Amino acid sequence: MAFTVPPLPYDFGALEPHIDAQTMEIHHDKHHGAYVTNANAALEGTAWAEKSVEEILQNLGALPADKQAPVRNNAGGHYNHTLFWESMSPSGGGEPGGALADAINAAFGSFADFQAKLKAAGIGRFGSGWAWLVHNGSGLEIVSTANQDNPISDGKTPLLGVDVWEHAYYLKYQNRRPDYIDAWWNTVSWEKIAERFAAA
Ligand code: MN
Repeated sequence: MAFTVPPLPYDFGALEPHIDAQTMEIHHDKHHGAYVTNANAALEGTAWAEKSVEEILQNLGALPADKQAPVRNNAGGHYNHTLFWESMSPSGGGEPGGALADAINAAFGSFADFQAKLKAAGIGRFGSGWAWLVHNGSGLEIVSTANQDNPISDGKTPLLGVDVWEHAYYLKYQNRRPDYIDAWWNTVSWEKIAERFAAA
């Protein structure tokens, strides 16, 4: 079944002032829209067109050779952005509690240390990509990926990701990626991330 862009679970302006409405509209409708269009075009007519995006990204090496790059980039873009929209909420921000907080403290020392490490991973990603909190099977870890790659292709489970492509922040923050990441924390839906953690 062809992929579709899921509707945003809130209004374009709902994450103001942290992420501006125009950025959200272009990012969701145009950027995510293009990844979906291009992923569907690349998969059309192959046996992989009926598979889930997770299964595709976990088995990129099994795709026809000429499909691997376009699918990696565009199905990856679809998966990453779907996770990203759901990871944010107008009532987001603050800190996680419960088992997720315990796991973050165990892996990184404290919530502040975790925030500093994820931010450093986002700032340190040269060019376009993402910084992620993942479950690696035994615990939590921070990784970063280039372009639209996702840790799921490396056998890890993404719990939270911050998009550090310039299209995610340039209208409001220009070259100030660190300021964008600082503001983005105020949007994180720890309820959603805790759900993913519990399922991982
Ligand atoms: Mn993006």
